[in-house]
Amino acid sequence: MTTIESPNTPTHFIAQMVDADVAAGKWGAPGDASVVCTRFPPEPNGYLHIGHAKSICLNFGLAQQHGGKFFLRFDDTNPAKEEQEYVEAIKRDVLWLGADWDGPNGAGIRFASNYFQQVYDWAEELIEKGLAYVCDLTGEEMRQMRGSATEAGTPSPFRNRLPAESIDLLRRMKAGEFPDGSKTLRAKIDMASPNFNLRDPVMYRVVHEHHHNTGDEWCIYPMYDWAHGLEDSIEGITHSLCTLEFENHRPLYDWFIDAINTDRGQGSKWGEKIHHPQQTEFAKLRLTYILMGKRRLVELVRDKHVSGWDDPRMSTISGFRRRGYTARAIRTFCEDAGVTKFDATIDFSRLENILREDLNKRTLRRMVVQHPIKLIIENWADGGDANRTELMAAVNNPENASAGTRQVPLMRELLIERDDFMIDAPRKFFRLAPGREVRLRYGYWVTCTGYETDPVSGEVTVVRCTYDLQTKGGNAPPPDADGKQRKVKGTIHWVSAAHAVPVQVRLFDRLFTVEEPDRKPKDAPESWHFTDSLNPDSVEVIEGAMAEPALAEDAQNARDAWEDGIARFQFERIGYFCVDPDTVVSDSAPKLVFNRTATLKDTWAKVAKKG
Ligand code: ATP
Ligand code: MG
Repeated sequence: MTTIESPNTPTHFIAQMVDADVAAGKWGAPGDASVVCTRFPPEPNGYLHIGHAKSICLNFGLAQQHGGKFFLRFDDTNPAKEEQEYVEAIKRDVLWLGADWDGPNGAGIRFASNYFQQVYDWAEELIEKGLAYVCDLTGEEMRQMRGSATEAGTPSPFRNRLPAESIDLLRRMKAGEFPDGSKTLRAKIDMASPNFNLRDPVMYRVVHEHHHNTGDEWCIYPMYDWAHGLEDSIEGITHSLCTLEFENHRPLYDWFIDAINTDRGQGSKWGEKIHHPQQTEFAKLRLTYILMGKRRLVELVRDKHVSGWDDPRMSTISGFRRRGYTARAIRTFCEDAGVTKFDATIDFSRLENILREDLNKRTLRRMVVQHPIKLIIENWADGGDANRTELMAAVNNPENASAGTRQVPLMRELLIERDDFMIDAPRKFFRLAPGREVRLRYGYWVTCTGYETDPVSGEVTVVRCTYDLQTKGGNAPPPDADGKQRKVKGTIHWVSAAHAVPVQVRLFDRLFTVEEPDRKPKDAPESWHFTDSLNPDSVEVIEGAMAEPALAEDAQNARDAWEDGIARFQFERIGYFCVDPDTVVSDSAPKLVFNRTATLKDTWAKVAKKG
């Protein structure tokens, strides 16, 4: 299992707060695992997206740095939209990111639904203390009586119900006597509070719905605000980190725990006081060109704009993984993005550049021709038998000498990219054209002597050339008699026609064409929907690509070399690719499938500006 790198983690306000708490012994003696206890609390109602990665890295990272504990907690208090598939996907993604809940800094997996009984008992306690009541108002009536920013709300007519009556009703709600929406349990706080969250918020509602974990045991379910702090308390969470939209909920978070602690303490019939964690909010991670809200992601999947939650174009962690992103790049990016109190949007290219840096260091280089045309070396017999194969030594990774070299076969007939040849080439076209010379990467220098075209389509079918025997390995020939050194401007990649193996290549691009896919453009019609900004060219499948012969075997070996079993490569001059982890090579589908992870350079910065 990898760990989250943090040799010189930049400090941010949360890291500083935790450091100070640890130094002050706020939650225990130094060295004790209880000093920093964090959790990542996803609701299992969709796959995780890259924003969640930030929360995972932050929470796990803090526990790891302080020898503390980290929980993966499923916040499964809402039965309607939650599914087992999501639970499994979330576990896989959290582990892939390196936040091992079973490792040295892990405290395990929890389900909020396992605390339902405890949370319920506390609700009865609040009723008995006169701090909660069962209310018969409908949701609509409650909304009407909430008041406004300038006006206090109107107290519910049930606000002064006697505790005994409320307890009886709550028990009957729990027993299933009332239909959905007919009754709620509310906290008795302050209908005049300037903070709406404190105007007698709902704690329980009646929902007759099957729950993925508790089945049909419950038909009342706790609201997020009521349950969340209690879940934190039960687990001994010290630093409860959440995003800014919960800032206004913090007084309620504190109120609920204080309410339970009212009249508790030594000798109290209620027992000891319960643990009171500290909630702290930070700004959500936001990126250009992608959407993160689960509602939007659900829609993309449901309406088949993508192939599924793990479509390589999705902003989900599963999507990024399938596209070939490394967990390390995502962690580095999250760290680099920092933790602040201010909403800011980060340019997507920052993530891509961090990814490129990682892949550049680690991927083996291979040659793949995406749109092949034949290149024939006319004078191949000058070097010996015209049918011979020469093995050329090719460097596996110029960034890493220990990756060594491999042997690539070269023969009389090769395949090169259609784009690397042009009949009427402009002066600045540094690739092949009649009369021009280029270097075949790790091969020889070749000069174009002619070409053939298809009589019907006019397309070039064959490029003819001669090679210079003195340029083996792609090296420059010796200077001529006058001491002049011949030069080539371009290097192109190639594969041997007789040896090459077919592969499928999928070129992925951004799913949306605009920086803020969720923002309605000023001049957009009323009917505008975010799907209007989908990029129609976000995927291109190339069936006829040809790879150097050992690529299938290399892919097998690379699977073992990468910590997550995903084989990644750099295809020379083209980009970074991974073997699609979800496509099984079989007799009916014998080709390896490669997903483009990223282009070699940022091609979007310019395109986007041109519009
Ligand atoms: P969404 O609707 O975008 O999926 P959510 O907050 O409803 O987000 P949860 O499953 O409730 O999703 O979130 C789990 C945790 O992840 C929460 O602590 C939440 O604050 C955090 N989180 C969600 N989105 C982001 C984000 N963009 N950046 C950082 N943390 C996030
Ligand atoms: Mg949520």
